[in-house]
Amino acid sequence: MTGTTPRRRPSLRLPRPRRAAEGRDGEVDPAGGAGRPPRVVVVGGGFAGFYALRSLQRHLPRGRAELLLVNPNDYFLYSPLLPEVATGVVEARHIAVSLRRPLRRVRLVLGRVQDVDLPERTITVRRGDLEQRFGWDHLVLTPGSITRQFEIPGVPEHARGLKTLVEAVYLRDHLLEQLDLADAQPDTTEGRAARAAMLTVVAVGAGYTGTEFVAQAHRWLTRIERRWDHTRARDVRWVLVDVAPAVLPELGPQLGDHALGVLRRRGVDVRLNTSVRSADDSGVVLTDGTSIATRTLVWGAGVVASPLVGGLGLPTRRGRLVTDPDLSVPGVEGLWAAGDAAAVPDLAAGPGDDGELPDTQPTAQHAQRQGTAVGRNIAAALGFGTAREYRHRDLGLVADLGGFDAVARPLGIRLTGPVAKLVTRGYHLLVLPSVSNRVRVALDWAFQTLLPPDETQLSVVREEDARLASAQATAIYGPGEERRSAV
Ligand SMILES: Cc1cc2nc3c(=O)[nH]c(=O)nc-3n(C[C@H](O)[C@H](O)[C@H](O)COP(=O)(O)OP(=O)(O)OC[C@H]3O[C@@H](n4cnc5c(N)ncnc54)[C@H](O)[C@@H]3O)c2cc1C
Repeated sequence: MTGTTPRRRPSLRLPRPRRAAEGRDGEVDPAGGAGRPPRVVVVGGGFAGFYALRSLQRHLPRGRAELLLVNPNDYFLYSPLLPEVATGVVEARHIAVSLRRPLRRVRLVLGRVQDVDLPERTITVRRGDLEQRFGWDHLVLTPGSITRQFEIPGVPEHARGLKTLVEAVYLRDHLLEQLDLADAQPDTTEGRAARAAMLTVVAVGAGYTGTEFVAQAHRWLTRIERRWDHTRARDVRWVLVDVAPAVLPELGPQLGDHALGVLRRRGVDVRLNTSVRSADDSGVVLTDGTSIATRTLVWGAGVVASPLVGGLGLPTRRGRLVTDPDLSVPGVEGLWAAGDAAAVPDLAAGPGDDGELPDTQPTAQHAQRQGTAVGRNIAAALGFGTAREYRHRDLGLVADLGGFDAVARPLGIRLTGPVAKLVTRGYHLLVLPSVSNRVRVALDWAFQTLLPPDETQLSVVREEDARLASAQATAIYGPGEERRSAV
């Protein structure tokens, strides 16, 4: 990538209709051609995919394109509120926004795209035993990211992520169960050792996932501690570990220090410049040599792009699919990408010291706006409106620390305490893309102050379904080499 703004491609040629490729059952759902409108397929109904389709609905007159969305669920997940689901503040369903209601012109295919065949211009979708192939004229890849695990022994089996609803609901039940079990331990040497492990929570990653989870879970247990006979919230040992030298580096050093102070005042053992060397079912060993007995290892150590984009045989940067500033993928007509899975040059940031443009950060803020931009640019490629390069200046981030504590940096202004809390909640309500979900979340927050907190254990998620590989379905992609496609 160069430091100068790459030239916008003058026009996008519509691909020629292709022959129908054969699926397992010998059939394929062909894309446009011979009297059919062109088909736009979007892979992933998160921030980028959802807003891409909303934008396509707005810019394209009816009947001018067939819009198809492939997503494993029939909802858009508002992931910034996952820590609030994991700590019982917000009800899980309330951050799941129906995809069908706002995307009325879109055909929703439930399943996961397992393979993208670029020469044939088809995708393969799997849902359980069902495998379907669909042709496309324009393909938008917005499958987001997965939790980054590094190659640390024991982490894939024993750590729990916080990127899906399954993981959030599981973590909440798991925490309650560990405290229930600890409360019931006999007062023997073994009983005391088991109790100590059950009452220890290790979270890895002091970005928004790990920090918000620890801070909010700490407050939540304080509010429900009367549930237990012999255990109080102060008996729980919280350890927050990060290889970086700061907490919440996304928010800058002052707000990071403030968050660190809040955590330490609450008794959280924050270990910076430290990581995990190994994990097993009895605990973790940190890189500073400490062994910690625990039954709860929460993994929030950043994200990597979905393995789907890495297996295409196209250029990637740090695992993200390289795009031009108009979000098209160079070298393949009709291929586009946006959000966490895409390496999009950040035109608003300008070139860095090395003369190169950085990529936009993997945040909801960028994913949402890139979605809107890619929808507009595809409509332009189909003859409606004008294409534009993606350019957005970061509006700042927010982090809720539970109680009346929060840190926020809207438009560069540093806020802490109740004011930041108000801004944080207002921001989430504004960005949640459905009025009924907004009302439900707002009521959850109101009830949280008026009513006793929710403390029941549902036990609806099995432990094996909450493992990193199963919850985030990384196993479906298999080894990269096997599914590499030629362009
Ligand atoms: C706990 C947490 C807190 C966060 N807080 C903030 C915050 O405060 N502010 C902020 O800006 N950002 C925040 N983020 C980051 C933000 O959620 C992401 O940057 C954003 O979701 C990226 O949008 P996306 O559309 O690229 O991916 P996602 O929103 O993750 O959507 C990807 C979609 O693709 C689907 N998918 C994946 N693979 C396939 C496949 N093979 N086939 C079909 N569908 C597939 C997924 O199921 C999902 O529906 C947070 C993230 C987490 C986990």
